[in-house]
Amino acid sequence: MGPAYTSAYRYFNDDPNTKAVEKTIFDQLLVGMSSTYPDDDTYVTDSAAAATALATSHKTYNGAIAVTKEQLPLTTLLEQAKALNKTTAVVVTSQINHATPASFLAHNEHRRNYNEIADSYLQNLIAGQPIADLMLGGGQQYFTRNDKDLSKGFVEHGYHYINNMADLDRLKQLPALGLFAKKGLEPALGSQYPQRLMQMTEKALELVSASTKPFMMMVEASQIDWCGHSNDISCAMAEMDDLAKTVTLIKAYIDAHPETLLVMTADHSTGGLSLGRAGTYQWKGQSLKHIKAMPKAIAEKMLQTEQPSSIWQQTTQLALTKEQNARLVKNVADAKLERKPTKYLSRFIKQLIDEVTYTGWTTSGHDGVDVQVFAYGKGYTAFTGHQDNTDIAAILMQMVSQ
Ligand SMILES: [Zn+2]
Repeated sequence: MGPAYTSAYRYFNDDPNTKAVEKTIFDQLLVGMSSTYPDDDTYVTDSAAAATALATSHKTYNGAIAVTKEQLPLTTLLEQAKALNKTTAVVVTSQINHATPASFLAHNEHRRNYNEIADSYLQNLIAGQPIADLMLGGGQQYFTRNDKDLSKGFVEHGYHYINNMADLDRLKQLPALGLFAKKGLEPALGSQYPQRLMQMTEKALELVSASTKPFMMMVEASQIDWCGHSNDISCAMAEMDDLAKTVTLIKAYIDAHPETLLVMTADHSTGGLSLGRAGTYQWKGQSLKHIKAMPKAIAEKMLQTEQPSSIWQQTTQLALTKEQNARLVKNVADAKLERKPTKYLSRFIKQLIDEVTYTGWTTSGHDGVDVQVFAYGKGYTAFTGHQDNTDIAAILMQMVSQ
């Protein structure tokens, strides 16, 4: 979530009935910027190296999960907090063994060793217990496998295990594990739970603050990055909206519990998002508000009908020129001849949304631009100005040990 994403979210959310552009929660909490480069043959980090930097204060190679270049384990913030008998929690919309949460909870030479990383959540113990007292996110396929059922191992450690978002309300105490999807959670856009990060965070705050012990919690709006990889602006705005509501909730929590600190940053930016394209001085992000479904879902609907233009109108409310409409109809016909029609058509739909809203992308990968740092609550001024991602972790490690 580089600066283009928070700018985009501001204009996306702009109230058309007022002259001023309203500030977002991100604008309110902004304090600084951070560099994200890894210790590798590139300035562009992946999520593993960046998460390792934020979790351990050490730079490493792309792909590394809390290990050095020599593959030696690096102590993480959550390990440190757990060793100091604080309550620990992880809340993500990816699978809980994805690169970011993994870099706080495990040590592995490569992020793609998903089963090994899941296994290590029961092997990497402090005082006989897993590192996180609470884990909420996705990842059933790695934790309840044919070869072993790790959820049972957690139950043996006293964890409550739930695997359905509807059961979130039933969690009353820690430790607990909630896995709500095979891999990552459903995208926010078009989901039954468009504010699932906020809902999980609300429950997590309730659970971690039930005792008088201090807590450390890592929350990740994991899928902003996934929308970026897929160059999907409407997907990104829906994820940003879930994050904005989550941060608003956390800010209210801090207002009621002023001993708490929030520090938020991104591991990197993704997609080379630009607000404006092809020389035109325009970005119509506000019109993205009417898009109610993921491009893939729109494509599936279009492929089942002879009226793709009316599906476009219903699902996006974006006005098309005659030429754009003709291109849409042609691409639906072309898609039907493709081996993967939905994939073909959803790519075209994303491109058409970009064209209509003047959204640009330069890569399907990450980019090396600095990311913002947001902070609120006790001690937030320690994070102002420019810093490196390892500096953020160094300050946090010092704060946790106080
Ligand atoms: Zn990524």
